[in-house]
Amino acid sequence: MDYIKLTEYYQQLEQTSKRLEKTHIISQLLKEAKKEENVEVIINLVRGSVFPAWDELKIGVSDKIIIKALITSTGISKDKVEKLFAKNGDLGIVAQELVKEKKQTTFDTKKLTCNLVYRKIRELADLEGEGTVNKKIGLISELLTSASPQEAKFIVRTILEQLRVGAAEGTLRDAIVWCFFSDKLKIKYNKDNNELIIPEETKKEYDYFLDKIKHAYDITNDFAEVFKIIKEEGIKGLDKISLKAGKPINVMLFQKAKDINEAFEIVGKPCGFEYKIDGFRLQIHCINGKIILYTRRLENVTKQFPDVVEIIKNGIKADNYIIDTEVIGIDLKTKKWLPFQNISQRIKRKYDIEKLAKEIPVMVNVFDIMSYNNESLLDAPFHRRRHIIEKIVKVTSDKLMPIKQIVTDKLEVAEKFYKESLEFGNEGIMAKNLESIYKPGSRVGYGIKLKPILETLDLVITKAEFGEGKRAGWLSSYTVSCWDKKKENLLEVGKVSTGLKEKETEGTTFEELTKLLNPLIEKSGGKEVIVKPKIIIEVGYEEIQKSFEYSSGYALRFPRVIMLRSDKGLHDINIITDLEKIYEVQRGRK
Ligand code: ATP
Repeated sequence: MDYIKLTEYYQQLEQTSKRLEKTHIISQLLKEAKKEENVEVIINLVRGSVFPAWDELKIGVSDKIIIKALITSTGISKDKVEKLFAKNGDLGIVAQELVKEKKQTTFDTKKLTCNLVYRKIRELADLEGEGTVNKKIGLISELLTSASPQEAKFIVRTILEQLRVGAAEGTLRDAIVWCFFSDKLKIKYNKDNNELIIPEETKKEYDYFLDKIKHAYDITNDFAEVFKIIKEEGIKGLDKISLKAGKPINVMLFQKAKDINEAFEIVGKPCGFEYKIDGFRLQIHCINGKIILYTRRLENVTKQFPDVVEIIKNGIKADNYIIDTEVIGIDLKTKKWLPFQNISQRIKRKYDIEKLAKEIPVMVNVFDIMSYNNESLLDAPFHRRRHIIEKIVKVTSDKLMPIKQIVTDKLEVAEKFYKESLEFGNEGIMAKNLESIYKPGSRVGYGIKLKPILETLDLVITKAEFGEGKRAGWLSSYTVSCWDKKKENLLEVGKVSTGLKEKETEGTTFEELTKLLNPLIEKSGGKEVIVKPKIIIEVGYEEIQKSFEYSSGYALRFPRVIMLRSDKGLHDINIITDLEKIYEVQRGRK
């Protein structure tokens, strides 16, 4: 497909914020792409990234490199490029304007295909060694010289991984169903009233297709693969997708219960109770003895945790498996477990990793297993999975063990375990159904968590305000939002401006958040800016109150930033129902 064609779809997507309309546009694009040989190219481009999050390869291009490439390819002065950037805050728009200006004097546009653009952008990640920056500038300028203004806009945004019109997971999943099965299901999108028409008799089948595709995606994390299988073998082809060590799966998440009785009601009796540790979740893959570590957002962090790799290599008696673990730091002096923050720092680290590993040694707690000896255990009951964990995990006292678990149907025993876990310094306990399967990517009731305190909330920053006086130049007050029930719209919950630190050593700083938010600014007016919803923060508060001030209908009393949650994505933030539940629990306590 010609790249210009794809950019026309991007343009259409940019002009609507309606999810159904976006789904329709993407399904039309996919119908065209179906005929192409390299359909994965188009699927990845429309997702807005040429590498999946779990790939070790990264494009690694900064604003500065783009500015230099723009100067080289258009011959326009640095001063002018920078001024335009300051005015627009979007290098894609800058590229579009500059290429437009230049094309009035020269006519050397070549035809760009999606394949070529995709290949060239991926090549950026392979450039290494001396002169890398210049090579990157050369490669980008070459692309921009051949590009039309509209193409230049989207090439730059894709390179910077800021496509903005990219298809979110749920939208792409629905679009795949519409693409392949709109005739079979007799579904129709009515643009005039933005409505999806599904006849009653095909509703069930529609949901079945959606579920199948979601499940296939949760296992592969690769829409291109899912799409190709349906194209070649139909929906049935998805049945044979199996887990592959080396391809991370979306982790299973849990619901909450208010007390042990409710926990029993949800997961049944007897059930497994486990410590809920406030550590860092790592999905660990072992392929023929080679270890790969992924965060819960499926980023490959093998390099950041050489100590975990060592512990796993020495402590697990198997060569092929995928396990779910919680890694915790240990205070060398007190021998106590250290909370999440201490370990999560390592994610951002490029240097001194070995030193940090010595300063804060870690311990790995294995709490689930998804594959063993190349057999998928996703459909195996939990008691069998736990049995395998106990068989293969060599307990090395302070470095590795199956997470502490008891099985009981007695309230008093469970209460005692809960108390013990809290006294040990843990966050709470988990209760797990012994017969349940491992369901990737879902917040299911196969397990629940129990924590005593009012939960902190994970919220996304949607607006921010520049501070004054000492905080001038920093974005220092943040409007935070949660999802609505269907995870389609963000709802404002309040403004938070306390809790951040001034020095990096003390925690998350204003400066750090400002740096993260600046490139995400979409609109500015006065002191306030609207930002792309990407930055997740954990927010503490004293109480949740009803309020007309914010679109969620709730507000937080005394909100404070606990920390930046770079390990979480937009999909992981709290939904309005969580706030409703906390509000009800509070009322019950008063
Ligand atoms: P939270 O913010 O409360 O940690 P979450 O949204 O990250 O919750 P949940 O699925 O709600 O995720 O809670 C389970 C989390 O707790 C897991 O992601 C994992 O990191 C951690 N955890 C600690 N101990 C266990 C355990 N025994 N079993 C499962 N998860 C555990």
